[in-house]
Amino acid sequence: MYFSLPAEYRQAEPQELNDRIAEARARLGNRLCILTHHYQRHEVVACGDHVGDSYGLSKLAAEKKNVEVIIFCGVHFMAESADILSSPDQHMFLGNPLAGCPMADMAEMADVLEAWKFLERFGGDDRIMPISYMNTTAGLKAFTGRHGGLICTSSNAAAAFDYGFERREKIFFFPDENLGYNTGLKYGLEPEEMVIWDFSRDDGGLDEQQLNKARLILWKGHCHVHTNFKAEHVGKVREEHPGVKVVVHPECLPEVVALADGVGSTRYIVDYCGQAPSGSTIAIGTEINLIDRMAREYPDKNIFELSGQTCPVCANMYRTTLNDLAYCLENYEDLKPIVVAEPDRSEALTALEKMLEIS
Ligand code: SF4
Repeated sequence: MYFSLPAEYRQAEPQELNDRIAEARARLGNRLCILTHHYQRHEVVACGDHVGDSYGLSKLAAEKKNVEVIIFCGVHFMAESADILSSPDQHMFLGNPLAGCPMADMAEMADVLEAWKFLERFGGDDRIMPISYMNTTAGLKAFTGRHGGLICTSSNAAAAFDYGFERREKIFFFPDENLGYNTGLKYGLEPEEMVIWDFSRDDGGLDEQQLNKARLILWKGHCHVHTNFKAEHVGKVREEHPGVKVVVHPECLPEVVALADGVGSTRYIVDYCGQAPSGSTIAIGTEINLIDRMAREYPDKNIFELSGQTCPVCANMYRTTLNDLAYCLENYEDLKPIVVAEPDRSEALTALEKMLEIS
């Protein structure tokens, strides 16, 4: 999709943009809701009605039945999920229509279908439950719903695994191998019970024996922001800051997760920072905008980024600017909303509703 912001919006100064956003918000009143993800820029979060993780924001979208226009400042799969959960007469817009998620792009429909066709030899629907991370296209969520599976986010992945293993012998999890592996360990699986399906290789690079033995089949995908953190960063930070608490997101590498004091979703990280006593030192392994916000919100605590390189920026989350938000608010009537068409909508809804039920 090609999208070019008109010069009038590109060139406007922050003060003018803030004024125009405030004016549009006042005009739309209760008909409008702006949802912002924790990884958005500070100035965008400041214009939102709610800030949260993908689970919390999807839940809100499902609850806000009276709102006519929802602007989601996040990435594409989030707005799609929110559209599926909202009612058909609500209009969902993505703050910047070009904001995608590279991890979600690592699981393409054709590759997942090919993998599933192969996995049918090992029991298919009878023995294998597909569980899709929220970071997938609506089409893959629909695939998951069709095969009796469910969606999860980093805040409810453990509950989703309980649900899956209570009903079927194996789980096929995509697209984040690290969240899947970390959740598998937490569930009590042994490393040899987890295999990686490499979609770039014939038969996922796995043999029959490995697949027969596997309880968890993990898609070979990752988040380039969270895999930036290394075990040596944890060692260095502990050396330099005795008493530091290391808190990381479960999309981080397993060796980093193993060394952390706390592991959890963005919601968990926000709560951890809020509940830590004054004077605490906390090194965080997640996206830099959330870390910066925590450091600003709690000046009585020493909160900083784990790698010491200040490079964990999600370029796609960063794409949404005040300029985009002002444009979207003032022109939404002429813009194409994010719409997930049938039958994907209903099939994906089944899988999303299961997630809401177990959470
Ligand atoms: S932080 Fe990682 S998983 Fe989240 S939107 Fe960015 S690339 Fe995707």
